[in-house]
Formats: sequence, structure tokens, C-alpha cells
Amino acid sequence: MHSPCRLLQSGVGRLSLFDFTGLKLEPFWTKFAEEPTARLIQIVDILLVAYVAYRLLILVRGSRAWRILIGIFMYVVVWFVSGQLGLKTLHFILDRALVLGPVALVILLLPELRQALEGIGKIGFLQDLGGRERTRAKTIEEIVAGVAELSAGHTGALIVIERTRRLTDVESTGYQLDALVSAPALNQIFFNKSPFHDGAAILRGDRIVAVACQLPLTEQRLPTHMHLRHRAAVGVTEHSDAMVIVVSEERGTISVASDGRIREAISPADLRELLREALKSPSSAKRKLFGQSKKSDEEIPV
Ligand code: ATP
Ligand code: MG
Repeated sequence: MHSPCRLLQSGVGRLSLFDFTGLKLEPFWTKFAEEPTARLIQIVDILLVAYVAYRLLILVRGSRAWRILIGIFMYVVVWFVSGQLGLKTLHFILDRALVLGPVALVILLLPELRQALEGIGKIGFLQDLGGRERTRAKTIEEIVAGVAELSAGHTGALIVIERTRRLTDVESTGYQLDALVSAPALNQIFFNKSPFHDGAAILRGDRIVAVACQLPLTEQRLPTHMHLRHRAAVGVTEHSDAMVIVVSEERGTISVASDGRIREAISPADLRELLREALKSPSSAKRKLFGQSKKSDEEIPV
């Protein structure tokens, strides 16, 4: 077997992108007329690979997996450069450690891999769309009722609603839970004598999956009356596509953060609308939350 280094060295200059796909540009077009079906299959094949690569990049962008990918890239650079410069010991160690690479990678990326596979499992006919729609509507009503109660009682709350990106890192800073989202459950969590009232609750679908979680704080300039709770709400939306509901303990107001921005003092009816949009399509909720073109007065610029 060739060592990866030898393969790369011998391959440089000979390999091109098209070699990997079994495709050479010129014969491709001349043969297209002869075998259109086979060629179309090749095009579909390439498009599918591009789509999978795109989804993977979206999945890992800004996450722990992204930092791991950068780490791998640096490793390969050092490994390659050490080979070229004749740093034999360093190169030998890195070369041998490469064997462990795939195993180490699977262990490190286990949460992301699980998420990706779950995503594939959810595609198409496997979904019970009608059932999901009913569950979604019920979850939204429970959140709105719970938040309205919290607001009326001036009970401080921080509720993170996951969308496409899983907040595994954030989840691990609090206590894991598996409870159905309900207004009483949200009130119990944020009741100020509850051991879980500090920090954020994470909602995934119709479940409360973690409580008392610490969120990253934003560095942005926020209005002076917004302190750590609001800072944390904006912070987590800078790193993910989550939507965050904040109930102010001091003022009893309801605010919603999304995409690194926060809109203050919204009504329960507005919250319901925003949740409906957010859980349907993340981009339309963003538009709705911050208006179509002109930014609203309550919006804090990024
Ligand atoms: P309020 O209007 O409710 O007073 P605020 O924006 O003024 O909110 P603080 O008064 O500083 O913020 O809120 C403190 C509470 O915010 C803490 O008790 C804790 O529950 C929550 N909190 C602070 N930092 C974080 C964090 N990094 N992640 C999650 N929650 C946090
Ligand atoms: Mg405060």
C-alpha cells in the first residue's frame, strides 16, 4: 500500500477534479449525444454530491465540527509541509497518527453525525405531516400561554427554540431534561424558587431538552436597560439560527431575538405569529421579525 504522502506527491499535477468524478470535459460533451441517459445520470450524481457537501457545510458552519475541520486542515498542512521540508521525526509521527484519524473523527463528530443521520431519516414520506402539524400548533399555543403568564407575573425567563441547528454545546452547560412543552412546565422551570430558573431552557420540537443552560453573551452594544439575560439571548442567535424568547423580570416585557438581533416589547399575539413563521421557515421569520426592508425602531442593529 502507498503511504498517503507518496500518493499525494505522485498524484500532484496528474489529478484533477474531473478524474475523481470519472469525467473528462471534452469527451463528456461529444458523448452526450451518444449516451444522453448515462450522462444525465452523471450530472444528477454530481449535483447530489454537491448538495450533500453543501448540507454538511451548513450543518457544521460555526459549530464545534467546524473548528474540528479547521484543525484537520491544519494537521494536513503541517503533515505535508514537514514531509516536504524533510522534518523526518515530526512527519513520521504525524504520518502514523493518520491511521487513527478516521476513528478519532467518528468519536469527535458523533453528535453531528447523529444529527445528520436523523435529518436523512426525517426526509419525505417518513414524516407524519398531519401529526407534526398538530403537534407544532399545540406547542406554539403552550409556549405563548406560558410566556404570557411569565410576563404577567414578572418572572424572568429565557427560552431558546432550536430550528435547524442543534445546540449541543449549549445544552451540555445545563441539565438535560425530556419534558413535553407546556405552559405549566415553563412556569415551573422559571418560578424563582425553582433550582432551574437561572439560565436558559432549550426547546427542540415539542420537548424541553435542557434547562439552566449558559448562553454565549453578545459583544454588541444593547440599550442600557438590557443586561445579561438579553445579552445572552442575542448572543446565542449570533451562533445559530435559534429563536429566543426573553421575559424581563424587571419590566415583564416579552422580547424575541433572532439572527443576532432583538425586538423588544412584543405582545403574546405577535409572539404567536413569529413562532408560526419561525417553525415553518427560518428565513421568513427573520423577515417578519425585523420587517421587510426598513428596520423597525425597536430593532437593535447588528
Ligand atoms: P431582566 O430584564 O430580566 O432583569 P436583564 O437583561 O436585566 O434581564 P439580568 O438582570 O442581568 O439581565 O439577568 C440576570 C439573569 O440572566 C441571571 O439570573 C440568569 O438567569 C440570566 N443569565 C445571565 N447570564 C446568562 C447566560 N450567559 N446564559 C443564560 N442566562 C444568563
Ligand atoms: Mg436586570
